[in-house]
Amino acid sequence: MRIKRVDVFKVRLPYRQPFTIALGTSDYSVDVVVRLEDDEGRVGWGEASPAKRIIGESEDTIVAALRALAPAVVGMNPLDVEAIEERMDRVILGNTSAKLALEIASFDLKGKILGVKVRDLLGGYRDRVETDFTIGIKSPEEMAREAERIVEQGFKAIKLKVGVDVEKDVERVKAVRDVVGPAIKIRVDANQGWTVKQALKALNQMDRYDVELAEQPVRWDDLEGMALLTRMSPIPIMADESVHTPEDALKVVKMRAADYINIKLTKAGGLLKARRIAAISEAAGVPNMIGCMMEGGVSITAGVHFAAATRNVVTTDLDSDISLKEDFVEGGAGLKDGYRTLPEGPGLGNLKVKEEKLEHVFTVEREGEVTSF
Ligand code: MG
Repeated sequence: MRIKRVDVFKVRLPYRQPFTIALGTSDYSVDVVVRLEDDEGRVGWGEASPAKRIIGESEDTIVAALRALAPAVVGMNPLDVEAIEERMDRVILGNTSAKLALEIASFDLKGKILGVKVRDLLGGYRDRVETDFTIGIKSPEEMAREAERIVEQGFKAIKLKVGVDVEKDVERVKAVRDVVGPAIKIRVDANQGWTVKQALKALNQMDRYDVELAEQPVRWDDLEGMALLTRMSPIPIMADESVHTPEDALKVVKMRAADYINIKLTKAGGLLKARRIAAISEAAGVPNMIGCMMEGGVSITAGVHFAAATRNVVTTDLDSDISLKEDFVEGGAGLKDGYRTLPEGPGLGNLKVKEEKLEHVFTVEREGEVTSF
């Protein structure tokens, strides 16, 4: 049993509306899609969504990294996902998005070979996971109107992007709380936009509007600032950009620099590394959220499998596919009353990739020497 062929594609995914966070505005994503095929014709799919400002990878660097990674995994046993991960880490440092695309495809293929869901390969804990819906930065009135619509759709949690201007940020939270009432959870995410002083001011003022947690208030590399806020803020602090890898998670829990850690498969570079972050967090008494970049249905479905498999994951922010004008996948993770559900079938499930939407970039069919890069 061996991986016989790797195909790499790009797909352009426009959003329904421009999305603004403290780091900038975007209105589409070009994701990289990977298709693995084994010598019996079984297929696994993976996806990477570039987040240049957070991870430092673009669609072009992901494709370039995959040109080095794909020949290294051809010929490997598709059941040996951990060995595939090790091989990829030896070929090239970092490049977590590129590795994620190949690793998700490996898990999908392994699940299909064994006839079990990825959720069951990773642990198995629950069948559905709550997700919030994220509202990008706009005027307080616009954000309140959008929040109303979201609650009507059945979501029980809303994430508000903030981090631009403390006074306005507090107004944003107030406006949303006023329209959604007390039963809906409100989280905020400043995406590193505040200084420590601004964060303390904002969080102290927001506390009266019952904010559940505040994501990444200050710069990703300011762990001392994160630790100070974790001690001083009335609202619990979640590390997002500060934790990419298991090593980052270890540092954050040692320094007590967060009350929660947001795991994203793209930052971690795979489900196996995400599982190690969850293990470190759990041992330190720090719960996890599973978040996403602007991912389509393959990657989001992988995130739902991970969240459904993992006890330390207490909530999710797996909503990006809902914000796309049109996904390239049919039948991925479902959405009902604010919960994500898993599709039927082994691996990631019986999802259908609309191959006509994909732009083929390259194919590797021969086992290759690992070349310098
Ligand atoms: Mg975040």
